Amino acid sequence: MSTHQRFAAAVTCIDGRIHESLRAWILDRLDVDTADLVTVPGPDAVLATGDAEGACRLANRVLVSHSAHGSTHVVLASHTDCAAHPVTDAEHRRHLALAATRLHSLLPEMEIVPVHLQQRDDGWQVVPPVSSDPEWERNDT
Ligand SMILES: [Zn+2]
Repeated sequence: MSTHQRFAAAVTCIDGRIHESLRAWILDRLDVDTADLVTVPGPDAVLATGDAEGACRLANRVLVSHSAHGSTHVVLASHTDCAAHPVTDAEHRRHLALAATRLHSLLPEMEIVPVHLQQRDDGWQVVPPVSSDPEWERNDT
C-alpha cells in the first residue's frame, strides 16, 4: 500500500525547546503530515549575516526535502533566548526578514514562511509575520 504524505521543510535553530511547538504549528497551518527539520544554531543570523558558503549549505539541505519529499514551503524560524544569536526580538525580526530574502534567492521554487517563536509562561508561541508589514516584503539591498 502507498500513502502519500505531504511534507513541509523548516530551517530552525538546534534549540530543542522550540521544535515541538514549531512542528505542531507547521502541521496545522501548512496542512502537512510531516515537517523535515534542517537545524543550525541561530539560522536567522546565519542567513542574514553569514557567508555565502553557510547559506548555500543550508539551502542544499532544504532542497533534499524539496526533491525527495516534494516540500513546497520552507518555514524559517528564529526564537527568543537564542544562545547562538542573543539579540532582542526586534533584531531577530529584522534579521529574519533579511534571511527570508536571502533564502528566497537561493530557493526560488519554494515558498518561504518566516516565523519567530516567543517564550511564554505556558510554552513557545509561533508568531508569523504580518503580511501587510513592508518589512517582510522582499527587497534587495
Ligand atoms: Zn537558538
